[in-house]
Amino acid sequence: MGPLQIKELLQQTPDAKSVTLKGWVRTKRESKNAIFIALNDGSTIHNIQAVAAPGQFSAELLLTVTTGSCLKITGQLVESQGSGQAVEVKIEDLHVYGTADPEAYPLQPKRHSLEFLREIAHLRPRTNTFGAILRIRHSLAFAVHQYFNEKRFFYLHTPIITASDAEGAGEMFRVTTLDLDKLPRTEEGAINFKEDFFGREANLTVSGQLEGELGAMALSKIYTFGPTFRAENSNTTRHLAEFWMIEPEMAFFELEDNMDLAEDFVKYVIRYALENCKDDLAFLENRLSEEDKNKPQNERSIPLLEKLSFVVDNPFERLTYTEAIDILLKSKPHKEKKFQYPVGWGIDLSSEHERYLVEKHFKKPVILTNYPREIKSFYMKLDDDGKTVRAMDVLFPGIGEIIGGSQREDNYEKLLERVHEVGIDPETIWWYLDTRKFGTAPHSGFGLGFERLVLFVTGMSNIRDVIPFPRYPKSAEF
Ligand code: ATP
Ligand code: MN
Repeated sequence: MGPLQIKELLQQTPDAKSVTLKGWVRTKRESKNAIFIALNDGSTIHNIQAVAAPGQFSAELLLTVTTGSCLKITGQLVESQGSGQAVEVKIEDLHVYGTADPEAYPLQPKRHSLEFLREIAHLRPRTNTFGAILRIRHSLAFAVHQYFNEKRFFYLHTPIITASDAEGAGEMFRVTTLDLDKLPRTEEGAINFKEDFFGREANLTVSGQLEGELGAMALSKIYTFGPTFRAENSNTTRHLAEFWMIEPEMAFFELEDNMDLAEDFVKYVIRYALENCKDDLAFLENRLSEEDKNKPQNERSIPLLEKLSFVVDNPFERLTYTEAIDILLKSKPHKEKKFQYPVGWGIDLSSEHERYLVEKHFKKPVILTNYPREIKSFYMKLDDDGKTVRAMDVLFPGIGEIIGGSQREDNYEKLLERVHEVGIDPETIWWYLDTRKFGTAPHSGFGLGFERLVLFVTGMSNIRDVIPFPRYPKSAEF
């Protein structure tokens, strides 16, 4: 099952037993009495120190032991002489799998900017920061599956290629095998998609929700966790062109149940990270506070672990859209005309409004409900007043919207009316409408953007830094 990993070795008692290490060199330091190599294999943020005596290996071999090179070391696990680690390895044998020319290797033992690291996304997992982020990302994904499994949800794989843009959530990426230089035409001169691979227009999905609902109408509680694509040209720190979305969908859940689930779920996965990613979170917290030292006192952020614990330990604030508008109308920035966008019932809240509510007014996560029907999707259940829908958005400090969801319209006539209203051809989603014709049921669901969650938990500030290989306008290199 492979060699023991550094994470395991660091926890062993230093009883001089023979061990084998494999990993990449972070630093090499030579002093009069010894050569110190800090090795990391990605299993933990911590390096293991390996020590050789001067003259033990040829100068030629040692020249190939550079930052970034990959080694196999065998030696004795002994108590460390230096401070900073309990154990170290006294090297007996050293093999260089591959060296890394220091003139060419872009990662050196110093702090690189996140912008620079994005340009070398193929190597950035080897840094402390990205190692920590990727391990936390893994733990969060694992916690997502564990949570839903414990709650008896079934993982439903919804399609990645779809033929409907019923969500209308944004621009879609086209999927085609047509020869773009020789497009087949209809008699009217339009592109003839009948000749395309699927015999119709096809795109990458913007959401698995509609198919998720089909699953919920049979299995009661399902969730999806898959890649999602939006060709929106929004160059923000919170949008990616390819991201991962978690979408639970539940039969017999009303809006209240949906909110309870959303809150319980995010708290569970954040708690899981707090309990299972202690070293990596501590590293990131420290990194953030180092960064904060250059900022004025009032712009410094709450320490990461404190921020996460606060979210886990306190109830989210719940209020309606209408109540939120009242708060905004009475707010200081509104009265002093500091908001860039106007406030009034019916507006789609912009991020400055959401941030005011979450960061200034309530100082905690907020769930906003019952939005005006005009600004929400066609499938949301109409409230009795006919003006609002049973929508819910979960807003997080520093992130804005992290979850969007709703109770779904389960009445066939009302749903069809909305479909016509927003200009969707009912023929294209006949299968979706069928669920309301055959055994319809009250049901609800939501979508959580996985990268926004990772962003929040790691305290990073750009969503491009919490996915291994980010996709955004003009960028798909790696
Ligand atoms: P926003 O207003 O922030 O663009 P949205 O209203 O388009 O979000 P939904 O369509 O409700 O979002 O999608 C559900 C969730 O998916 C959002 O709450 C968010 O967490 C996430 N999300 C949406 N668009 C993106 C994106 N481009 N990149 C990463 N995550 C996204
Ligand atoms: Mn959007």
